[in-house]
Amino acid sequence: MQRGGKWHSGRRPDGAASDAAATSAAQPRTSSTDRAGPATGILSGVTPSMAQFLEIKTANPDCILWYRMGDFYELFFEDAVIASDVLGIVLTKRGKHLGEDIPMCGVPVHRADEYLQRLIRRGYRVAVCEQLEDPAEARKRGSKAVVKRDVVRLVTPGTLTEEALLDSKARNYLTAVFPLPAPREAPPSARKLALASIDISTGEFEVGEISAADFPGEIARLAPGELLLPDSSFDDATLAAPARHISAATTPVPAVTFDSMSGERLLKERLGVSELGGFGTFERGELAAIGALLRYIDLTQIGAKPAIRPPRRTGPSDVLLIDASSRASLELVRSTSGDREGSLLAAMDRTVTGAGARELASRIASPLADLKTIAQRLDAVAFLLERATLRDDIRKALRAAPDIARAISRVTLGRGSPRDLGLIRDGLAAGRTIHSFLARAAEGMGLAGDLRSIADRLSHIDGGLFEHLASALIDDPPHQKKDGGFVRPGFRSDHDEVLQLRDDSRRVMASLEARYVEATGVRSLKVRHNNILGFYIEVTALNARPLQSPPHDDVFRHRQTMANAMRFTTAELEEAEGRIAAAAETALAIEMEVFASLEAEVRASERALGEIAAALAEIDCLAALAELAESEGYVRPELDAGTGFEIRGGRHPVVEQALKAQKAGPFVENDCVLGRPDAGALPEPETSGARPPGFDETASGRIWLVTGPNMAGKSTFLRQNALIVVMAQMGSFVPARSAHIGLVNRLFSRVGASDDLARGRSTFMVEMVETAGILNQATERSLVILDEIGRGTATFDGLSIAWATVEHLYEVNRCRALFATHYHELTTLARRLPDISNATIEVKEWNDQIVFLHKVRSGAADRSYGIQVAKLAGLPPAVIERAAEVLAVLERGETNGKGRSRSKSDSPVVAAARGLDELPLFAAARPKSFVPQRDQPSAAEAALAALNPDEMTPKAALDALYALKRQLSEKG
Ligand code: ADP
Ligand code: MG
Repeated sequence: MQRGGKWHSGRRPDGAASDAAATSAAQPRTSSTDRAGPATGILSGVTPSMAQFLEIKTANPDCILWYRMGDFYELFFEDAVIASDVLGIVLTKRGKHLGEDIPMCGVPVHRADEYLQRLIRRGYRVAVCEQLEDPAEARKRGSKAVVKRDVVRLVTPGTLTEEALLDSKARNYLTAVFPLPAPREAPPSARKLALASIDISTGEFEVGEISAADFPGEIARLAPGELLLPDSSFDDATLAAPARHISAATTPVPAVTFDSMSGERLLKERLGVSELGGFGTFERGELAAIGALLRYIDLTQIGAKPAIRPPRRTGPSDVLLIDASSRASLELVRSTSGDREGSLLAAMDRTVTGAGARELASRIASPLADLKTIAQRLDAVAFLLERATLRDDIRKALRAAPDIARAISRVTLGRGSPRDLGLIRDGLAAGRTIHSFLARAAEGMGLAGDLRSIADRLSHIDGGLFEHLASALIDDPPHQKKDGGFVRPGFRSDHDEVLQLRDDSRRVMASLEARYVEATGVRSLKVRHNNILGFYIEVTALNARPLQSPPHDDVFRHRQTMANAMRFTTAELEEAEGRIAAAAETALAIEMEVFASLEAEVRASERALGEIAAALAEIDCLAALAELAESEGYVRPELDAGTGFEIRGGRHPVVEQALKAQKAGPFVENDCVLGRPDAGALPEPETSGARPPGFDETASGRIWLVTGPNMAGKSTFLRQNALIVVMAQMGSFVPARSAHIGLVNRLFSRVGASDDLARGRSTFMVEMVETAGILNQATERSLVILDEIGRGTATFDGLSIAWATVEHLYEVNRCRALFATHYHELTTLARRLPDISNATIEVKEWNDQIVFLHKVRSGAADRSYGIQVAKLAGLPPAVIERAAEVLAVLERGETNGKGRSRSKSDSPVVAAARGLDELPLFAAARPKSFVPQRDQPSAAEAALAALNPDEMTPKAALDALYALKRQLSEKG
């Protein structure tokens, strides 16, 4: 069953479509084979076991080969060199190959997961080669016979199932990308891609088609661990770059595997159906992507079939589209530092299970754009919010519910352990409990929204399977099945009988010991057991004599002499031992039988179990959102099909919690009204009473220009409104007093000036690329937040670009937008265009200090307070004073310039800068302030101030003068 016996190098064979080619990895680092020892291998003239190794290695050239030898996985040649370096394990040698030492290192089997994880993290692929027979079996064929071995699995970043290798709170997608054939004359923007993604650790499966422009955003949303690309497009940077950006592995697979016909066939086969109609209609491209995906799973799992759930179709029409950079800037599931900490996800997560946390993360990453589905979710959250006891009961039951999706997947793949079966049992128990809670809550009014489908799925828990698991397994089954010990006493009478036999024989041992002590008179005689000798009789060296002399030497046979002890056996002992061994063997065989039948049962109801796992994840997520709404005081958002946007008393979910945690004062809530709700789309708002005083309702425009000094809270205000949209459309309550939102189809956020040196673009270039993306894609239904664009270049360039951008958003995109800017000149736009409003964030000046009120009001900022903020930041006082002087001159110059008739080429800045010529130089103007200012008077100054010359005698005055002199000289 070796695949692809022919040797080929790690490089991609162009157009080759053999199975072996399909495994060739993208990971340049894994291409250990270019220099690997076996490349020169000629299979003649090597030992049989080396020949076997080379053959297997040759079939898996792009993987690090883990070659099972007893209790170790051994690595040889270049693989050993790489692994010893990455894993920090000792590199040794073993034998010679073609006259050269063979480098080797080994990984103990019981630590395999840990080492696998480290290699996979670093982007390597591992082929796990197992012994397929007992070495004793091989010996029967002759002393030189080699144990049968083969690769049972390729471990790649996108095909993990082990708990130790996976993050319990994150999904791990394997995603196949199929660029749809496009007519040659079609512009690149018209290109489309079909994507299919599976998490084989849970069976979650989704497919969809998107435009090439949305690809980076989609990849950021899916966050796959591994991306499959057709080898023919592998060099296409537009496909590889987004994967690199989220550090997903990319793997080229033969283009011919992207075949819609075989995709359809494989999918039907996997789902066990003859028609796909029941799961929706799939485009040809989607089926092609599915084909490559399922093919690759076959290849890496080598025959084992993971449980997959029916694919969900996701298209641009039912999700809120967010591009990759907007996702990053909004810090949805990861903060800019790359951690979960500080993200919206971390602020919202109140789930109690790993599966619930994954569900929440996936909802935050994929908010919806479909009113009905969102309402179903919100109804369920509202229902659970109103019923605190029900919610608590459910959450308590969930805390005991394990991650059954992943346990099911391991069992179906044949990698399950007794513990996994125990997890499924406990999960089903939790599901039954939760179902009974829901059934009770449904009495009367019935359940709301998504809770109905959850209750329905939980009602289908197979009582038979649950009973079997519950009666067959002990409470806390072990991780390993090979040693048995997991079948519950009383489950099978034959099992009980052999255990009885085994225990009886143990008692026989004890009585033998007593008898031998009495017969020999050696009181310290003991019956013992170890793994090498089995049972034996041990006496100290001094007491060995009686056993070796008549009459006992007939009974006791010598086995081993130790330093201080001697070991013996007897016919009776051997017989009893034989019985124990036979009983243990039978017991183990029965346990394996029990395991196999439970495993088969789980496999048979794999689909139903998947539904139950999903229902548990969903209800955890919904109950967590209700919990969040309760503890943080969120409200249910009103969504409609209009283009209104009216947030009253909105807060930033992450900043609010951070301020609370630091006890740093309350978060100041703010309104945001962009455009009016369409007539009739909303009932008259009854919130007028709750409206904070001072908000100028009439100023609401479709676009807001937000000005205010640094640190006032502009960026916070912008983001909070974008985050409220994400929260509302993923089906969560929102941090506000009330929220009316006309469904958003695309959300854009360009916040702050961030360098993207990793991608080799300067700040300004990145900014312009992202702004271009927004201006080319935003529609009337979109929401755009732009934070200080045009700062990376000269003032007038920047201002002009910002100006033109606002006009374009207004005239062409016609979207809702929040635009924070430093350019006060922009605020004149509000006067010229009716639907643009100015908003500013209030600050107070107090004792020459600036106080941030964080309150948004209509109107433009009077000035930028840059110097006050700089002062807060601790710039030296001399610099602050000097800056204030320069500013005054500049401002004077600007007004003068306006009054004078100046030449056309004379810009206001040039005119203003003229005034600077008259300004004295820094040092000349400020000799004193160059000396650092002291806040406290010196000791001498203080002493001087304390003197009263009128009351002093001449002598006292002279003494005081000397004292002052001394003080000065001491200091100096
Ligand atoms: P800007 O973008 O105007 O420079 P930021 O939005 O970065 O200002 O806000 C600066 C800091 O002010 C934030 O880190 C936050 O701690 C605080 N802040 C902002 N908005 C509020 C608010 N509404 N209530 C309380 N504190 C706020
Ligand atoms: Mg800012």
